[in-house]
Amino acid sequence: MTAPLHPDLEPVFDEVLRRNAGEDEFHQAVREVLESLAPVVDKRPEYAQASIIQRICEPERQIIFRVPWVDDEGRVQINRGFRVEFNSALGPYKGGLRFHPSVYLGIVKFLGFEQIFKNALTGMPIGGGKGGSDFDPKGRSNGEIMRFCQSFMTELYRHIGEYRDVPAGDIGVGGREIGYLFGQYKRITNQYEAGVLTGKGLTWGGSQARTEATGYGTVFFADEMLKAKGESFDGKRVVVSGSGNVAVYAIEKVHQLGGIVVAASDSSGYVVDEAGIDLALLKDVKEVRRGRISDYAAERSGATLVSDGSIWDVQCDIALPCATENELLEADATALAKGGVRLVAEGANMPCTPAAVRILREAGVAYAPGKAANAGGVATSALEMQQNASRDSWSFEHTEERLAEVMKGIHDNVLETAEEFGSPGDYTAGANIAGFIRVADAMLAMGVI
Ligand code: GLU
Repeated sequence: MTAPLHPDLEPVFDEVLRRNAGEDEFHQAVREVLESLAPVVDKRPEYAQASIIQRICEPERQIIFRVPWVDDEGRVQINRGFRVEFNSALGPYKGGLRFHPSVYLGIVKFLGFEQIFKNALTGMPIGGGKGGSDFDPKGRSNGEIMRFCQSFMTELYRHIGEYRDVPAGDIGVGGREIGYLFGQYKRITNQYEAGVLTGKGLTWGGSQARTEATGYGTVFFADEMLKAKGESFDGKRVVVSGSGNVAVYAIEKVHQLGGIVVAASDSSGYVVDEAGIDLALLKDVKEVRRGRISDYAAERSGATLVSDGSIWDVQCDIALPCATENELLEADATALAKGGVRLVAEGANMPCTPAAVRILREAGVAYAPGKAANAGGVATSALEMQQNASRDSWSFEHTEERLAEVMKGIHDNVLETAEEFGSPGDYTAGANIAGFIRVADAMLAMGVI
């Protein structure tokens, strides 16, 4: 199932398994990076001398805390909160918070580990971290969400700061939650420290285009991949899984570039809409009413809901998995390849399983991992930090232009690195090696810390 590791990296991976028992997603994320690093081990012996790879696999700090809160019925609820401060060689820890019942230490560590390399690829001064809680926001009232966020921040505030650790959103954490979290941080610290969180509202320190950035950035990246093959989105049939923040703005940008998105999904099923997803309706259902994709299907004529089955059975030229980790399995990759898919770019973090990636490669499908393709979100967070530090705010056009430049820069750097290290055209190898080298060189310079 997995590719072999460089012999020097076998004991490194064994130690990760031993130290982090039961954290399957973290093991998967580490393994995928280590598999790319064989040529680096051979070319740069100085990293082994300083045990850089071993150090990168061990978080600098892991924080786990109790989050008590009172629900609308007056009952006391207890959740678990996490912040894993993984690596600060390039800047303050940076990465989102995820509120979802599946969250446990292994998920936070996989996300934090990916974030190190993703953030390095942006070329911006940000380290890697991630956090969240096993809190399930589904069906909770506004008041419950607010009380939960306030309790969560009552512990988290002592660990974060503009120069220390800068959280943002992820699954289950959007503009509303960032508002409640920022409000509580501001109240406890008695400071208006805008740069402590990103994804803020536009009237109180947020950046234009941050909401759109992950989805737009994924499509900009896929567009660069198409350009490298002399193609474009124009007239292409596209499937986007998910219908959250990443998916919605990926769909918007695909439509702007002349592609047609024929399917989207959520945990209740997927919808096929041959006329192209009606984005105004989808946004209203998901962002305003906080409803289900079934509501979209019920209100849109010509759309059909499939409540059991895989969205990857829908034939397409381009697939953009934008839902969650391990959502695109081996059988899905086989179905996509049979249907003639030409390109897969990950808007979510680690949505394709290793077996699925292998099938796509063997079928000659261009494939880009999330740490490269979805870096636009965190890159725009870094632009938000820049604006906060200079007490400035930029126009939408200027910010989107910067985002497009960053995505093109990542794309070109990844391809050049893949070429230099003997895997031309391999976006996984290029992303892992380019991200790793940037962090490793900073760590070497700073000594054993
Ligand atoms: N959660 C997003 C990611 O996976 C964004 C993090 C951020 O903006 O800090 O990259």
